[in-house]
Amino acid sequence: DTDIQHPVSVGIEVAGDGHTIPLATGRPDTLFENDGQITKRPVRALTLSALAPRPGEHLWDIGGGSGSIAIEWLWSHPSTQATVIEIDPTRTERIASNAANLGVHRLAVVTGSAPDALKNLTPPDAVFIGGGINRDMLTTVWAALPAGARLVANAVTLEAETLLMNWHADKGGDLMRIDIALSNPLGRKRGWKHSYPIVQWSVSK
Ligand code: SAH
Repeated sequence: DTDIQHPVSVGIEVAGDGHTIPLATGRPDTLFENDGQITKRPVRALTLSALAPRPGEHLWDIGGGSGSIAIEWLWSHPSTQATVIEIDPTRTERIASNAANLGVHRLAVVTGSAPDALKNLTPPDAVFIGGGINRDMLTTVWAALPAGARLVANAVTLEAETLLMNWHADKGGDLMRIDIALSNPLGRKRGWKHSYPIVQWSVSK
């Protein structure tokens, strides 16, 4: 048929020239509508790697922000489950619309303040704390964590970082300091611009 100029979908070729969602975790920040409160792509990739999703597992994403962590968790395998807990109702609306726009239909969204809002949730296999870290939060989350489940917490402030260092000394696991710099215009040349360093604690109970 001489009318056909381009094969549309042959084998594994991707049809058309529209946007596609990359396969690896740490997808572009621009996929997730956000107000600046988003775990940036490189840190998100390291966070998902530490969360280490497996088929059928359930994530609690505490301080959901844009929902990027829970959505990437759900993309890891079609049998995974996730619940986002976010205190700000504008953000929970945005999380729900991000999930819908990205074709993710199994995200449970809870508007409420953790740790109170965690009370009646299905137990998790992994928990991510991306916001609201304090002693009460860690104590309650640790108590709710089933044996063998994983906890990953990211701290930006010195106060949160100090808590994570103390809990690491007590419970073990891994502490990682993520200090990322991106090149930025500096006059007519370029220089390294650092983001706030992030301290990440990962532990299995
Ligand atoms: N991981 C998110 C960004 C998290 S920003 C993303 O990638 O989009 C931290 C979020 O935690 C903010 O949206 C803030 O509103 C929320 N937060 C802070 N304290 C909280 C608490 N006690 N319970 C629930 N959410 C909380």
